Amino acid sequence: MTSKTYEGACHCGRVRFRVTADLDSVTICNCSVCTKKGILHLIVAPEQFELISGRDDLATYTFNTGVAKHTFCKVCGIHPFYVPRSDPDKIDVNARCLDGIDLGALKPKFFDGQHWEQAMSGTVPWR
Ligand SMILES: [Zn+2]
Repeated sequence: MTSKTYEGACHCGRVRFRVTADLDSVTICNCSVCTKKGILHLIVAPEQFELISGRDDLATYTFNTGVAKHTFCKVCGIHPFYVPRSDPDKIDVNARCLDGIDLGALKPKFFDGQHWEQAMSGTVPWR
């Protein structure tokens, strides 16, 4: 487990950020929105995250409980990070948006977000 500092961005580059995280903690989720986004979750504390540019280019999508704030770039539509329902005091970075990410080297864990309540309470195991 090694935390490193990475920079990342949306596709058009307006939204840029810096994050310190451990890529061993990357997770995929099968809930309705994560499946379609294809997001690779990297959940970090706010102090590990810094927005470099693009605050005014972000729009926010919410649904269901409204706790998760699905921020995305208004110009290119990519979701580089958001506020997750599981940890609303944290930032969930999309590891796919990190500069130079080696997707093939990642070994994401699986979170059963289709059964969110049970998964969070441990009734349904993480894999
Ligand atoms: Zn963009």
